[in-house]
Amino acid sequence: MLLGVREYVGRMETDQREQVARHVSQLLDAVTHMESHFASPAAIGVDYLSWAHGDFRLSTEKDVTFADFPFHETIHESIRQAGYVKPTPIQAAGIPPALEGKDIIGLAQTGTGKTAAFALPIIQRLTGRMELGALVLAPTRELAAQITSMFNQLGKTSGIRVATIVGGVPMDEDYAALRSWPNVLVATPGRLIDHIESGKVSFNEVEIFAVDEADRMHDMGFMPQIRRILDVLPSNRQTLMFTATLPDDVERIVRKNMHDPVRVQIGLCAPAHRARQELFLLAEDNKTRFLLEMLKKSKGRVLIFLRTKRGVDRLARQISNRRVRAARIHGDLEQSQRDKALAGFRDGNCRVLIATDIAARGLDISNIEHVINYDFPHNAEDYVHRIGRTARVEASGQATSFVTPADRRFVAGVRRLIGDKLPQVICPEGYSEPPAEAPSKKGSGHRRPDSKRPRRRAKAGSK
Ligand code: AMP
Repeated sequence: MLLGVREYVGRMETDQREQVARHVSQLLDAVTHMESHFASPAAIGVDYLSWAHGDFRLSTEKDVTFADFPFHETIHESIRQAGYVKPTPIQAAGIPPALEGKDIIGLAQTGTGKTAAFALPIIQRLTGRMELGALVLAPTRELAAQITSMFNQLGKTSGIRVATIVGGVPMDEDYAALRSWPNVLVATPGRLIDHIESGKVSFNEVEIFAVDEADRMHDMGFMPQIRRILDVLPSNRQTLMFTATLPDDVERIVRKNMHDPVRVQIGLCAPAHRARQELFLLAEDNKTRFLLEMLKKSKGRVLIFLRTKRGVDRLARQISNRRVRAARIHGDLEQSQRDKALAGFRDGNCRVLIATDIAARGLDISNIEHVINYDFPHNAEDYVHRIGRTARVEASGQATSFVTPADRRFVAGVRRLIGDKLPQVICPEGYSEPPAEAPSKKGSGHRRPDSKRPRRRAKAGSK
């Protein structure tokens, strides 16, 4: 790399050369500092660092490959079969310290490859073992199912046995799963607590505890359950915690229960960067008409987000009446209905899925071409999670948001979070601008932005 730079610098004037030398030296200092700060050079957490000077860029890219990780050959084989060519940044950053047995806080959202970032070190550690050595906690049944399938995909050749216990299925199925001598147990908090209270499962041999989407569990009111689960796990375990944000309550749990954790962080907005975003100002009453026009023009998979379960049901009825086949998913549906909706959307039977935020995180559905925020999210981070459903890993996609005059303050919150990447709100052609929100009679009419308002705790799984 430096050879090309030297040739380039050689052709410069002396004062320019001195300036470049100063910048390069600062840059190398920064890299050395980052390397000493993290567990290994691979764990820098960024795989591209650039410094621009005029038209020339200096890159210190460190191309981490899976071959750099000392995995058993069976694991390398599964990685090849999965078609993964190179580790994603969260894998490059998180796998080396996890393999060294360190506690990890991974600040990354779905779509970044974080499941494999904790699954691969767990598989490495438990290969050839008989007992239940790892417990993985996930906020929703869908996410638990996805994590299980990732363990099956990456761990089968290594002989890893995985069982899933989630709410909404008969207990007998759990007992059958637990009798299969799993090495890894993937669970949602509520059902796991039932088993802990029954005293029928022993967690004495658990060496690794992985928590996925800790912030989501916090939002769903699962913190007391997580504390209870931590109480029954051996204290010398390794803890791998993944979360997109670090709410105070989660941070407290981290400080109290993790040993000198290594923090690996991947930019919150990474997946969102790749999505083409657009924001349309619409009156509430015009949203369905505009949506139907949009669906007529598109061909691929579309995921539509609404805020409420009733809203999802109503929109599903309205668009089915217009002969658009749409599946729906929200927390009031039976597990079998949710599975059926997801399966139909995955296999292309239904190209439209209407969902509450329960589907915003975790769900790994490839090739979603278009995410539509029919209701603009009230929480800025939910915006990033929702539009992260398109543009996953290598793909790119489109993210459209409907904004009513009352939503404008929430748009401002998203702009504060992701900055200029959020385009301006425009009025779509053929629609007149809706009147501005009438100020409320009570008080000033200005509500505090979401981030400053105390969060109302949703009942577990209520979305
Ligand atoms: P996750 O963020 O864990 O939900 O993963 C999102 C998607 O990325 C899943 O479909 C994974 O199979 C895929 N994935 C994970 N790691 C890699 C990798 N190194 N290369 C390509 N795809 C990956």
